[in-house]
Amino acid sequence: MSDEGEYPELTPILRRIPEQWGRSIGVGPGWFPLLVDLDAALAAIDPDYVVHQVKEEAGELDVRFDTIHTERYQQMHALVRAAEQRASHLCEECGKTGVLHTSRDGGVRRLCASCAAAVQQGYEAVFDDLVTRAALYRVAQQATALHRTLSSLPPDASRRITGGDLDAVSQLASRALWRSTADLHERGEHEYARQVVERTRAAMADGVTEMRLVTNSLAISERFWRAIYPASVVARDGDTLQITPPVGPALRFEEAVAAHLITTVDTAAVVDAGAAERLRAAGFEVADDGRFAVDVNATDATIRLEVQP
Ligand SMILES: [Zn+2]
Repeated sequence: MSDEGEYPELTPILRRIPEQWGRSIGVGPGWFPLLVDLDAALAAIDPDYVVHQVKEEAGELDVRFDTIHTERYQQMHALVRAAEQRASHLCEECGKTGVLHTSRDGGVRRLCASCAAAVQQGYEAVFDDLVTRAALYRVAQQATALHRTLSSLPPDASRRITGGDLDAVSQLASRALWRSTADLHERGEHEYARQVVERTRAAMADGVTEMRLVTNSLAISERFWRAIYPASVVARDGDTLQITPPVGPALRFEEAVAAHLITTVDTAAVVDAGAAERLRAAGFEVADDGRFAVDVNATDATIRLEVQP
């Protein structure tokens, strides 16, 4: 809580609150720099905008404002949302990385470990920040994949999905991405962002872990997947072939002579930049732009190659 005079940098914001509402700011000092920046950005759009409330709710920053320029509201609202999202990883007391804590009597606040200890109310972290960010990163990845699927629906199916649905998924993906790693990159904490991504990969293991495919030729499928993932672990056990790539699910192949039994599956593989060339050298069909490859004469699978550096 802060009233005018205590923290002079907040004076411009406090003066925007109508006097009869009681001029106070209901958040801790760790979030003050955010509020000062937000006020400057909002004032640049509407110098006379009004603040209704600045408070903390269940560990989140909540800023309510108004402007008589309704056409500028959306732009200002986006700035407020961005500030609230930034606060969602910062200790409300000191402004360092903070996570949700609950106290003995059920209070919820976003704090760092040392501030949580300092207030002496038995605050304990609900989750650590890495777990939270990794979970959000996973949401971002899955929402992105869903958005891609929705964008590529055949016309008859896409007519049954509204543009609003697509926008909602896209916004979910970008919000989750922002809350997981983007703010870290903005603050130059690239190493921490890398740890979040690594942690996410570990958590993805409870997704699809194995794909079972029927092929005409174990030998051809082995050559195909070894070209994509030279670092795969390959195991042959009688009639089955197991290929465990460094990323993504393991592939388990069985051989069938009858052509109609072989698997027809279109899937995507995350590959390095050399994969398309290795596939061509091994005699497989690869699209000119290197984005698609076909496991010819083995399975009838079309693999979309997603090159990642
Ligand atoms: Zn702190």
